[in-house]
Amino acid sequence: MEDYLQQLDDEQRTAVLKSAGRSIIIAGPGSGKTRVITYKLLHLLKTGIKPSEILLVTFTRAAANEMIDRARMLTGIDLEGITAGTFHHICNLILRRYARKVGLFPNFTILDEEDSKSLIKHVRTMVLERTGEIKHFPSHGVLQKIFSYATNTMSTLHSALLKINPKYIDYEKIIEDIYREYTIEKRNQNCVDYDDLLVFAVQVLQDSDIRLRESRKYKWILVDEFQDTNILQLNLIELLSSFHKNIVVVADDSQSIYSFRGARYENVRDFMKIDGTKLFKIQTNYRSVEPIVKLINATIPKRSVPKVLRAVKFSDQKPIVIKTSDRQEEAAYVSKQILRLIEQGFDPEEIAVLYRSHSHSLELQIELSKQQIDFKILSGIRFTETAHVKDIIAFLRIIQNPREKISWIRVARLFPGIGAKTASNLAEHAYGAALQNDVSSILDGFSQKKGQILEIKKLLSEMQEESTVSDKISFLYESFYQQYLQDNYPDYKERQQDIERLIEVALRYNSLEHFLSDLTVNEDVQNNVSKGQKITLTTVHQAKGLEWDVVFVISVNPGDFPSYYALMENNIDEEERIFYVAITRPRKLLYLVTQQYPSSPYMYWAKAVDFLQKIPEELVDIYDTSY
Ligand code: ATP
Ligand code: MG
Repeated sequence: MEDYLQQLDDEQRTAVLKSAGRSIIIAGPGSGKTRVITYKLLHLLKTGIKPSEILLVTFTRAAANEMIDRARMLTGIDLEGITAGTFHHICNLILRRYARKVGLFPNFTILDEEDSKSLIKHVRTMVLERTGEIKHFPSHGVLQKIFSYATNTMSTLHSALLKINPKYIDYEKIIEDIYREYTIEKRNQNCVDYDDLLVFAVQVLQDSDIRLRESRKYKWILVDEFQDTNILQLNLIELLSSFHKNIVVVADDSQSIYSFRGARYENVRDFMKIDGTKLFKIQTNYRSVEPIVKLINATIPKRSVPKVLRAVKFSDQKPIVIKTSDRQEEAAYVSKQILRLIEQGFDPEEIAVLYRSHSHSLELQIELSKQQIDFKILSGIRFTETAHVKDIIAFLRIIQNPREKISWIRVARLFPGIGAKTASNLAEHAYGAALQNDVSSILDGFSQKKGQILEIKKLLSEMQEESTVSDKISFLYESFYQQYLQDNYPDYKERQQDIERLIEVALRYNSLEHFLSDLTVNEDVQNNVSKGQKITLTTVHQAKGLEWDVVFVISVNPGDFPSYYALMENNIDEEERIFYVAITRPRKLLYLVTQQYPSSPYMYWAKAVDFLQKIPEELVDIYDTSY
């Protein structure tokens, strides 16, 4: 037997060797699903499949890179040419090739969530100016949720409204108007939001020639974390596998936690139901020590495909439940305990604190700082969503696609003396004049010849002259933005570092389009410039698929986790799955921390959904540190 196959157990090896055609590997947490996908990739390469014949779909870009590195290490094969990454990344690639089919130009730009919100805000204001002020009309943030939900579930605005907030049904007609105008605006400005990437990619694949050409490329499609796909994503992989019909997915339906984005754990069952689908099971948990696996087995969420995991790592330390008084005390306890663990020799990189919502970690962040424990946050604002990075990106996006108004407005507002009105006029003007990509002539015709406009023109045209992406940014930085940061932000030094890092990242790119797409669609350029050893703070959602030696799950009390909204909407099943994801992350030690007197009053009426009360007492050690 080949060496690499010996690194798998019998069930895993069977899954790697025998999966072909339509195959699903369904298994619990930590059982090696991701490992099976990685080794399947390796196995395909070993048996002569070319990297360019493989499509690998992962939850994050980082996960794809990890698998590719591992396969490269074990095979010595360069994986150049493989298509790998998130659904958004893959859709972006397809859409660049066939943009015209859906009425876009191939130089379209991608709006991130914040951009999309500001465009909706703009359209909302316009529409409401026509209808007159309406009390309690949904905010642009809520509108975005409604639109996105409708798109990702392929349902009508009406049913999205019912799901998100039925009281808005009264405004259905106006909301439809806003939606329509938002769609038109995006198209006119030659830009798309994240959801459009999926919708349009699926749309272009409806064309039988395109479908044939694209699906012929991929002899094999491999999908990790299949339980979190939505209906559009499922359609996409069905279309892309329509020629060779080799599609291998791994899933754990009990870990489906993205229903708010339209993910359907029912996809798992629907996929299994189709005739000829091969089903594989793997049942050993390699990640966690036995006492944790026992807890995992006892906590399996309702309505899951039944799974019982075998443990292989032994330990006499049960998971620990800590009852603290309130958030303050919880933070103090967790920091103290982390210090103790580090003193005992645990690597800070192997310690993580998980929470249901980012806001639960604020006290802890303060406490950790006091104790001088370094931490990084996986789920904070993404690097590319910070104001200063977005400023730079706005300049680049104008060069890439001068029709896009949002970036013009952003750039204009950086110059004192240009107000909202002028900025918006400028954007309109540029939009009208942007037939060719020569940014400087676009500005020539703008009637308001303020000094600032001339400066914008000068910056943009010189950036356009610079040949590489990193030179473009360097130019902007040195001749304008460095000083701008210094004048406007007390913490300008850190922001300057970020821009320097952005310039470094840009060095890897030859094309502006690739650089911009990667920044918007792929999260790997994150602000985790690690210096030294740091513990990790993260939401459970962001911790999916990851593991650490020690995991603290904090604020496990009704109102926090399960969340207040879930309790209000009686959406407890999803919360159970999120909790399940949380407790399945540690290898050695699991701490479940709860507050006896949380600030959330829901504690009292929601006792019935206290996750900790449902845990059989003999499976955990309970300590009460509350006053
Ligand atoms: P999750 O549900 O969290 O995504 P998973 O099923 O994808 O988990 P992996 O991340 O692939 O599980 O594996 C969990 C851990 O177990 C990893 O550290 C992996 O290296 C290890 N592991 C998996 N299979 C084996 C094996 N056969 N021998 C030794 N270690 C293994
Ligand atoms: Mg995994």
